[in-house]
Amino acid sequence: MDYIIGIDVGTTSTKAVLYNTDGKIFGYENKLYPLIQTTPDTAEEDPDVIFKATIDALAGVSKKATNGRILGVAWSTQQHSLLGLDADFKPTTKVITWGDNRAEKVAAQMDADGRGLALYKRTGLPTHPMGPVYKLLWLRQAHPDIYQQTRYWVGLKEYLLYRYFGELKEDYSMASATGLFNIHTMDWDEESLKLTGITRDQLPELVDTTYQLKGLKPALATLTGLEPTTPFIIGATDGALSEIGLGAIDDGEVAVTIGTSGAVRTFVDEPRIDPKGRIYCYPVMAGKWIIGGPVNNGGIVFRWVRDNLCAPEKAVATELGIDEYDLLTQMAASVPAGSDGLLFHPFLGGERAPIWDGNARASYVGLTRKHTKAHMVRAALEGIVYNLYTVQLALQESIGMPKKIMAAGGFARSPLWRQLLADIFEEPVAIPEAFEVGCLGAMTIAQISLGLASDLSVVKKFIGETKVYQPDTTTFDNYRALVPIYMRLTGKLESEYKNIADYQREHQ
Ligand code: ADP
Repeated sequence: MDYIIGIDVGTTSTKAVLYNTDGKIFGYENKLYPLIQTTPDTAEEDPDVIFKATIDALAGVSKKATNGRILGVAWSTQQHSLLGLDADFKPTTKVITWGDNRAEKVAAQMDADGRGLALYKRTGLPTHPMGPVYKLLWLRQAHPDIYQQTRYWVGLKEYLLYRYFGELKEDYSMASATGLFNIHTMDWDEESLKLTGITRDQLPELVDTTYQLKGLKPALATLTGLEPTTPFIIGATDGALSEIGLGAIDDGEVAVTIGTSGAVRTFVDEPRIDPKGRIYCYPVMAGKWIIGGPVNNGGIVFRWVRDNLCAPEKAVATELGIDEYDLLTQMAASVPAGSDGLLFHPFLGGERAPIWDGNARASYVGLTRKHTKAHMVRAALEGIVYNLYTVQLALQESIGMPKKIMAAGGFARSPLWRQLLADIFEEPVAIPEAFEVGCLGAMTIAQISLGLASDLSVVKKFIGETKVYQPDTTTFDNYRALVPIYMRLTGKLESEYKNIADYQREHQ
């Protein structure tokens, strides 16, 4: 039998899935690692700990490939990370992840003076401290010594692949997540290079997402259990690959994911720039561009509700022998659609799309004595979906009404939450049973790279059964009345977010 491995290097763990060429799963590994948060704004990871996690994940699944050969290993990786390397390719920094907020002031300044929007229009990267271009500006100011010592600037995947092959390569989609790549010329962006004071010989060589790295170092072949001849297919961003793994590959097919964070994305056939800079845009393959918006506040908000508002319910759930999330969604289901007018802005972790404001803070608005804890739980779930819906509205300005919505993520374990998505978006929502969609997307790119498939449509064969949730029209009146209030309130609260965030920073 012939196998392909899809590996997804995420923020909390690296997952690897062993597939046969028909998409059947034969092995799965998940290796966790910690986020290093020495200050509230810092979110770093140790590149060597992640390197070891990838070796262990690959070794775990390659063992399961009995009676056959592994044709390739395809990569999906978290976006927006920055890592410095010295002349000997040794790290000069930790991996500064997408969640690191230390470039906040630099990004806010560029947003205020209009240079952020100009940079977005060249690179497709919205103005936000997650962008490596902003992290470089911050590092040059805050740590000039590290900036000087650094010979190469890369992201996590480029470093990992360097360790495996001794080659510094970067695919176009990952390069687009840096803010240093011009999506119109498909090359490093001269103005961004000038701005950050770096040169193109400090950056990896650009390649297509189907590019194969060959000549795996023998010691690593032994450790991973792979043949030294096994090619690694460079793959793309985790966002693009989960879109592909969900099967949302055609015009008007929109993917909504709600895991810890969330996103709304779709493919278009040419670059589309949002005049207001709210949605990112980057190339994945010839004629396949992705546009969309990532949100910080997905399932992590529900986790906060569970652990803080609903700590006493834990004992009840244990007594009933059910998952606490299931108990909370049962409570939420006892309250009418719209939570009797209680609104929740879910910005517990600042927000990216659609408001791109790291200072944004969460709020309940509209509480009365009539509201109960069940209302607060439901309002939180609805608030997460309202926020994603406002991202969808921004996307609609570019693509028109979606033809189909596909969804995945931890939220899909809850029937109530799946239905909420259909009701608030007023669209049928298809939930495929596909598992680890990022790895499946990577495996699909490998199929093309290895000549087993001619285009992305092959993924539809691998996805398995899909369940469709129809919107419940009886909820429309409530949501149609509340969504505009939710949006106007966001606009009104926005002017105070910086003040409250400054207060919190001063008093932490
Ligand atoms: P990650 O983004 O780390 O891959 P997941 O996709 O597993 O995370 O999503 C985790 C989130 O899914 C949790 O924070 C929680 O909000 C949500 N979740 C998990 N189980 C349930 C459940 N039974 N009902 C509703 N939501 C759930």
